[in-house]
Amino acid sequence: AAVPKPVSSFGHLGLPEALMKAIRKSEFTQPTPIQSQGIPIILAGRDIIGIAKTGSGKTAAYLWPMMVQIADQRELQPGDGPIGLILCPTRELAIQIYSEAKKFGKVFNFNVCCCYGGGSKWEQSKALEAGAEIVVATPGRMIDLIKLKATNLERVTYLVLDEADRMFDMGFEAQVRSICAHVRPERHCMLFSATMRKKVEKLARVALSDPIRVVQGDIGEANQDVTQTVFLLPLGGAKWNWLTNYLVEFTAAGSVLIFVTKKANAEELHNNLKLREFEALLLHGDMDQTERNKVILSFRKKECDILVATDVAARGLDIPHIKTVVNFDIARDIDTHTHRIGRTGRAGEKGAAFTLITEKDKEFAGHLVRNLEGAGQPVPDNLLDLAM
Ligand code: ADP
Ligand code: MG
Repeated sequence: AAVPKPVSSFGHLGLPEALMKAIRKSEFTQPTPIQSQGIPIILAGRDIIGIAKTGSGKTAAYLWPMMVQIADQRELQPGDGPIGLILCPTRELAIQIYSEAKKFGKVFNFNVCCCYGGGSKWEQSKALEAGAEIVVATPGRMIDLIKLKATNLERVTYLVLDEADRMFDMGFEAQVRSICAHVRPERHCMLFSATMRKKVEKLARVALSDPIRVVQGDIGEANQDVTQTVFLLPLGGAKWNWLTNYLVEFTAAGSVLIFVTKKANAEELHNNLKLREFEALLLHGDMDQTERNKVILSFRKKECDILVATDVAARGLDIPHIKTVVNFDIARDIDTHTHRIGRTGRAGEKGAAFTLITEKDKEFAGHLVRNLEGAGQPVPDNLLDLAM
């Protein structure tokens, strides 16, 4: 089936006037990208996987179309129990989504309730029994309340898995799966996540049917023409061994740019390469500008195939024959990483980037996972494990 087209203004979404009024009152002037792509898809009844970073307006992207559809159908759905169920990882998030759901739910007179760990089970049970049509819940508490027979999921027709990756990080995988299995299979399911890791992908495969995938543009900031490969190596000499193993192969393909963190590391690596008879250039911030220019000119003219550099070379350098970037040390932040690997794969050419990381780089690993996903690059399992 065709993918519903994105719309550029709220007016083209075909939302009921009462909801439009509430949207105008929120002072939202135009849909965010995930809203303009996601809302038509959800209104068309299709399952969706929405990947977009936080703050991109995902909540409204699923709440509005879900509410419009539930409002249309609720007379046709006798019985009790919620019709819309939104699962999210934390109590804070549940409360935040709940307040959005209440705000826009008023338009349709929806009975909305919020169930999270730490809140009173008794009060939450009462709210459910009072006929909540839309429920925002954390997975653990939802399971508890089902066990207490405070509600059932027989009527759930719209199921939202919000921040799916974080639900997994917080250990809710089994609960989420169990809740999905309780909801009837012909439900409409919407999965949102800031990242698309293997575990999320696996859940998506069982929870969603024939979903349309929406990836918000700027998450893929890293150049897709650069093939990224990540090696998780032990501390010690492993990085050096790796480099000397591959360097001949890399230089055969074109020029090689090797990034290290510190000036001292750059000097050391440059020296070690020389000892192994690899001719290399050196560039770092302690060199004066004339010297730096000379090095760059020499590299540009292919007088030498290898340049060892600190992040002074991360930005702007435009040398088309750089075919390989090696992050011998990880970048100080993910934006710098993106800039570094952007030194290759320029103007539609293909390039390769290799990133060496160690167990010490746990925090960076998380950022790197998202960077790879955004650029459509494979994420190795050991990197995922390190990031968790
Ligand atoms: P996400 O779930 O993607 O992290 P949220 O749904 O929490 O993002 O939205 C982030 C913020 O943006 C909220 O304060 C929300 O009210 C606001 N917002 C949502 N949609 C729009 C819009 N179309 N225009 C302006 N602000 C919006
Ligand atoms: Mg959100």
